[in-house]
Amino acid sequence: MYAAIPAQRRLPYMSEEKLRSIRDERLRSTVMYAAETVPFYRKWFSEEGVDPRQIRTVADLARMPVVEKEMVRMYPDQFRSTSPLGNRAEPFMTTGTSGTPTQIYHDPRSLLANIAYGGRMRAAMSKFLGRAVGNREAWIGFPTGLTGNVWAFQRKWAMLPVRYDRQFISIMDSVDEVVGALNAYQPNVIFGFGAYLELLFRVIAERKLRVHRAQLIVYGSEAMTLEGRRFIEDRFGTPVLSDYGAVESLKIGFLCEERAAFHLHEDLCSVRIVGEGDRELPEGQSGEMLISNLVNRGTVLLNYRLGDMAAITSSDCACGRQLPILASLDGRIADTVFVPDGRFIHQAAVWMVIKRNPAILSYQLIQHELGRFELRLMTSDLATFESLASEIALSMEIVLGAGTTVEPTFHEPLAAGERGKFRPVVPLKRDSAFL
Ligand SMILES: [Zn+2]
Repeated sequence: MYAAIPAQRRLPYMSEEKLRSIRDERLRSTVMYAAETVPFYRKWFSEEGVDPRQIRTVADLARMPVVEKEMVRMYPDQFRSTSPLGNRAEPFMTTGTSGTPTQIYHDPRSLLANIAYGGRMRAAMSKFLGRAVGNREAWIGFPTGLTGNVWAFQRKWAMLPVRYDRQFISIMDSVDEVVGALNAYQPNVIFGFGAYLELLFRVIAERKLRVHRAQLIVYGSEAMTLEGRRFIEDRFGTPVLSDYGAVESLKIGFLCEERAAFHLHEDLCSVRIVGEGDRELPEGQSGEMLISNLVNRGTVLLNYRLGDMAAITSSDCACGRQLPILASLDGRIADTVFVPDGRFIHQAAVWMVIKRNPAILSYQLIQHELGRFELRLMTSDLATFESLASEIALSMEIVLGAGTTVEPTFHEPLAAGERGKFRPVVPLKRDSAFL
């Protein structure tokens, strides 16, 4: 299987036609497998009287039901294959930004294949590193997080052809400890959560800490703002790439060396963009992402509402890869708030207010009631907070519109409990906001 790694490095450059044919072939086999061995789909095909062989291309996915997170959280076994491969699948937990964690099973074969798929991203990385192997990799994350668990599985089952030199750094450590670990290990590459790394490097810059300069930073799991990416690249001189995935689909897309947009692994995870009534949106228009994992034989998810918003475009990328690209990736839908005057405020609008003031290291806007907000501001000290809090709160009230109040509160940078899965905007639960 490891002979597959060079092939995976080349795959993104194949013709669009070839890539689509690989994708649709995978879709047909996934759908047949689901209809035969996954309770939810077996029931759906039989009740609807649809022959699974009629689902031939990703366009036909529009005929199939949309799967909500809540359904999988409440009835995980409905989506888990009863085949031998499904029975041997390993459980992974989603990080639960939108509530209770969900158990997703990945079959051993696809977990191992995932190493080879990683070759696509590594090809982009090696443009900066100059070599594919022999790099020192620092991973900042949760000890029991997805990456750690996937590694543990791969170490157990795979005879890795190349031994990665890796150092794990806990995200729960203080900034000083993390910086100390980076300085001691001197990695070529730093991996971590997007929002966390953005905050980490802002704090490092603000406190003027001396930190080892890596050749490359790679983030995944959650979004980093475009400003954050530019800040790290300009201030620290380190290019930033992204490996975009989720527990529900380990590989969704990646930022190539051009860093202009995300390429989608369309043959591993098909992405559809839908709007009102889950109707497919035309190219270039931003909407909700529905993903279909085409490789996992544990938990099988087709048309799964991931919770991210994006637009797809067929325009070309200067890198020459033919994989489709996301024109925009707007982050989690959950980070959009519904305000009393009936509008949706995207977190980017909130960020516009914050970014005017560089003394704010990080922030979090929490909606306690429809019109009542708390604005947590992290500044280097209390005096800085006091000098800017009321003005920022007022600007925020103007953005949020009539009938809103914003109470600013002071927070130490990266205080315990605020690290990790950082969310800049925490809205009221959607249902209560709509009632
Ligand atoms: Zn590209």
